[in-house]
Amino acid sequence: MTPALTDLLVVARRAARAAAAVCLGVLEEAPAAPDAMAKLGKEPVTVADYGSQAVILEAVAAAFPGHGVIAEEGAAHFAEHAGAAGGEQIVRLVGRALGRAVTLEEVLGWIDHRGGAEPFTWVIDPIDGTKGFLRRDQFAVAVGLLHEGEPVAGVLACPHLSLDPADPGSSRGLLFWGGRGLGAFREPLDGSRSQPITVSDVADPARVRVLGSVESAHGDPALVQAVIDRAGLGGGWVRLDSQVKYGAVASGMAEVYLRPRSRPDYRDCVWDHAAGAAVVEAAGGRVSDLDGAPLDFSRGARLEANRGVLVSNGRVHDRVLEALAAAEG
Ligand code: AMP
Ligand code: MG
Repeated sequence: MTPALTDLLVVARRAARAAAAVCLGVLEEAPAAPDAMAKLGKEPVTVADYGSQAVILEAVAAAFPGHGVIAEEGAAHFAEHAGAAGGEQIVRLVGRALGRAVTLEEVLGWIDHRGGAEPFTWVIDPIDGTKGFLRRDQFAVAVGLLHEGEPVAGVLACPHLSLDPADPGSSRGLLFWGGRGLGAFREPLDGSRSQPITVSDVADPARVRVLGSVESAHGDPALVQAVIDRAGLGGGWVRLDSQVKYGAVASGMAEVYLRPRSRPDYRDCVWDHAAGAAVVEAAGGRVSDLDGAPLDFSRGARLEANRGVLVSNGRVHDRVLEALAAAEG
């Protein structure tokens, strides 16, 4: 029987919340910045990345054991680099998040759970924006759901995002979620009530607010600036880590998230976009690559068929694509 999207989203939201608690627990226990373990490909990874993934996949394995899984981390690297202290910490924090005692073997098993071949695939980035996490800045726990390769639902837990963006002193911790045919919502991470969200209806370029990566190496800031100038986008350019950017566009806090390729051969990872794309589309926005083509999530771990990513409220999408084509000449 095909489960209803709402049932999948109940599990995904609960899992993302528990995962966010693991991440915040690691930050609380770290005197300064949490230790980053060396990782192939040079991206940092911490015990929180593994603990978050373990908690999410524990929930997926229990509720939907036959669903497929694409997840960023693997247990072998943790076992090799975490040491005894890392092992003790992950067992403690995952146990606390799940509300029961767990063993290291169980935790490693959940990290490596990859499920079966049913048409739903869970796409998980346990900490998107690890560099932001290490700076105690923005990061997201991203849980996306593909059905036959298409992003149909997503959850973004954003523990450091202010509930009221106009008031940086307001309490922090937001969860965005949405699904095809269901709309999109935001709710405080503490579990209080959901509110519907939609993308903004701004179409006047002078008011368009643009989002991009903090890390210049994750994109092409010169090209973003050239597009802003050519399209006359006058609402400001804010740099934020992680898929928090998708949540911001989905909830009308910005109109455009532009992610040009950092180098010609770079292909984006599916876990950096699946959850966010589902939430933005459910909120009425549009997601494409820099040629205007839909993102093709059916090619494994990377968006092999796409170059770059453009997310918008829909109203200004074509204008940005035209400016991109002109700027790239
Ligand atoms: P952001 O916080 O939006 O800059 O994106 C964070 C994500 O960028 C990480 O999760 C990585 O998967 C991804 N990333 C790492 N290296 C690159 C690169 N050279 N170009 C584009 N994205 C990258
Ligand atoms: Mg990521």
